[in-house]
Amino acid sequence: MPLTVGAFLGAGTVAAHATPKAASIEAAGWSPTAAPSVTAPQVLAVPRTDLSVYVEQLGQAAQREAERIAQAAEAERIAREEAERLAREEAERLAREEAARRPAVAFPAAGTFTSGFGPRWGTNHNGIDIANAIGTPILAVTNGTVIESGPASGFGLWVRVQQDDGTIGVYGHVDQLLVSAGQPVRAGDQIATMGNRGQSTGPHLHFEVWQANGAKIDPAPWLAARGIPIPGAHLG
Ligand SMILES: [Zn+2]
Repeated sequence: MPLTVGAFLGAGTVAAHATPKAASIEAAGWSPTAAPSVTAPQVLAVPRTDLSVYVEQLGQAAQREAERIAQAAEAERIAREEAERLAREEAERLAREEAARRPAVAFPAAGTFTSGFGPRWGTNHNGIDIANAIGTPILAVTNGTVIESGPASGFGLWVRVQQDDGTIGVYGHVDQLLVSAGQPVRAGDQIATMGNRGQSTGPHLHFEVWQANGAKIDPAPWLAARGIPIPGAHLG
C-alpha cells in the first residue's frame, strides 16, 4: 500500500507542476472534467478509499467468520443434544426390556430339592428344602415387602416377605440377611444367602408359604401354579 500511495503522489506532483505532461495525459484519453481529479488532494483520497474498502472487506470477512463459527457451534450443540436424547431413549428402552424380562415369580435358590412339605420325623415339615453351598443367593419368589429379617427360633435367621398375592414367604436357615423390614422387593431380587443356622442338618434353604390366616401350605403346588414346577417335588 505505501508503495501505491507513493506512486500516486509522484504522478500527482508531476501533474501539478508540468502542464505539458498533463496535456499529454488528456491526449491519452483523460477528459477535461477528469483532469482536476489528478490534483494532489484528490489523488491522495484514492488510497484512503482503498483502505476503507479493505477495512470494510476485512470487517465483512470477520463477520462471516464469526457467523460461520456460530453456525458450527449451533450445529455441534444440536448434534450433542440429539446424541444425548438417543442415549436417554436407549437407556429407557433397556429399562423397559429388563422390567419385561423379569419374571413375576422366581425360584428361591439354585440347588437340589431334598425334602418336601408333609409329615417328617414324627412332625410336619412345613416347607420345602433346597440344598446348596453356604452363600448361594436366595431370591425373593414374588414381588412384595419384607416384614421381618432377623433371628428366628429353629431357623437361626430368617426373612419373611409379604407377597403380592396375600401370602407370606418364609426363608429359613439363611446365612446372611441382605434386606431389612419395610423394604420392597421384586421377584428375583437377592434377599439373603443360603446357610446352615438353627436346627439344620446341612446348608440348605427352608422355604414356607403362609396363607393370610396363618395356615402353612405346600409351596410346591403353589410354585407350580405360578409356572415354576420343582423337579422331584411331590405335588400332594
Ligand atoms: Zn426344611
